[in-house]
Amino acid sequence: MPRRKIIKERVPTPERPAEERIKSFIEVNLGYTFELAVKEAERCLQCPANYAPCIKGCPVHIDIPGFIGKLVEHRDNPDKAVKEALNVIWACNSLPATTGRVCPQEDQCEMNCVMGKVGDKVNIGKLERFVADYAREKGIDEELLSEIIPGIEKKNQKVAIIGAGPAGLTAAGELAKLGYDVTIYEALHEPGGVLMYGIPEFRLPKDIVEKEIEKLRKLGVRILTDHIVGRTLTIEELLQEYDAVFIGSGAGTPRLINAPGINLNGIYTANEFLTRVNLMKAYLFPEYDTPVKVGRRVIVIGAGNTAMDAARSARRFGADVTIAYRRGEEDVSARIEEVEHAKEEGIKFEFFINPVEFIGDDTGKVKAVKFEKMRALDERDKRGKRKIVGTGEYVTLEADTVIIAIGKHPNRLIVNTPGLKVEHGRIVVDENLMTSIPGVFAGGDAIRGEATVILAMGDGRMAAKAIHEYLTKKREEQKA
Ligand code: FAD
Ligand code: SF4
Ligand code: SF4
Repeated sequence: MPRRKIIKERVPTPERPAEERIKSFIEVNLGYTFELAVKEAERCLQCPANYAPCIKGCPVHIDIPGFIGKLVEHRDNPDKAVKEALNVIWACNSLPATTGRVCPQEDQCEMNCVMGKVGDKVNIGKLERFVADYAREKGIDEELLSEIIPGIEKKNQKVAIIGAGPAGLTAAGELAKLGYDVTIYEALHEPGGVLMYGIPEFRLPKDIVEKEIEKLRKLGVRILTDHIVGRTLTIEELLQEYDAVFIGSGAGTPRLINAPGINLNGIYTANEFLTRVNLMKAYLFPEYDTPVKVGRRVIVIGAGNTAMDAARSARRFGADVTIAYRRGEEDVSARIEEVEHAKEEGIKFEFFINPVEFIGDDTGKVKAVKFEKMRALDERDKRGKRKIVGTGEYVTLEADTVIIAIGKHPNRLIVNTPGLKVEHGRIVVDENLMTSIPGVFAGGDAIRGEATVILAMGDGRMAAKAIHEYLTKKREEQKA
């Protein structure tokens, strides 16, 4: 076989300039054209599938050299190249337009790419996004779906899914493809979970998520919105009507800071702030009538993806934004691309400060935050992060809006279900993702705490497989 030419440098994806993008919520990264995608695909060394470290790094084990290879193989026929590449991706991942945009690739598929030894790692995420976007724009995904639907063999069994986030949507899609009658119960008025209400338009345009959901409907999945399980109806009631249940209710309850002044006006949780911005479309005010009040000086507390999204959204309302984090820059957990974009957009970072008091004015509105300065020790905690301690020194920063983004935990309505085993607020599951209630499975943030989209999707796939095995056994027992 001829030796491949090593092309060290990544083909960059075009981005809108920072000064332009802070004035709107339009997507920042413009993605590859077919020509650019092929150029980047040519950099892949096509490591054998049983060895390729990129496949091992992807939580759902997409055949990465397989899909990238299709782009190069059929470079003279873009539609064919994309259709075959999408087919490879769909075998493991039903939401590639989303994961290509939001996966933390640097810690997953791209982490151990062998190209990293001689140059830049292959831009796997952007290639995946390209395939999904091109397929959607050209109707190739619809074509592929219409080839799958007639082959579905209907089963006379029903599955209820709680929550329409990436875990629930993936489980629903996989089960529908296996022929089950699937209904999703979603608490909010729109399906999508964090993809709709958390991650902003400039990172993940909502029409993309809506189109992914439309595909599920075409597969026959029913989605009932404004249905809160635990309130509108219970898991016990669902079990009377359905043969199995999957819980994908996420971790949507924000953690709060226990400090004086936390109830002052002008202090939001990132959840509330981002929901107003995204789901209620405050960024289109006055066209949409849910305003969100963003002050001139905004402090965002935390340094994960949620904090970055809140900070970058606030910046787009014209605010001067500072991210305050109790640890150092090495411990920032947000995706590297988001941190870089935040810096380019003029967001300031203050490290090693921890809020101890929120200070209000005479009207009960926040006007400043008092922080204790922190110091890192050499010793590391269970997650490998350096332990931090207070120094006894303080600093006060002025702010008229404060957004708290220090994490979330699963919603109590579900975890309080009688008979459902829960530890540290998370639903406990066995190796098949079955909970302590027979026939009830769970996955995503509801079992992991705050994690990632692709891990939630991986759980959805795995649970669908386990539910299929469980229901196949049930059918066979009924026949015997
Ligand atoms: P969710 O997405 O939370 O969906 C759960 C769904 O269940 C919701 O729609 C909710 O309304 C519904 N629900 C809850 N309770 C009930 C009930 N009682 N009855 C009916 N329905 C119910 N991950 C990444 O990989 N990359 C990123 O860039 C990234 N950025 C993020 C940015 C933000 C702002 C946030 C908040 C998270 C981000 N994450 C990111 C994390 C990622 O979004 C989550 O790990 C993922 O969405 C979890 O999926 P899920 O399906 O388990 O839960
Ligand atoms: Fe990489 Fe995520 Fe795609 Fe897997 S799903 S290949 S981790 S971008
Ligand atoms: Fe291609 Fe890198 Fe994966 Fe090898 S490790 S197949 S070079 S993407």
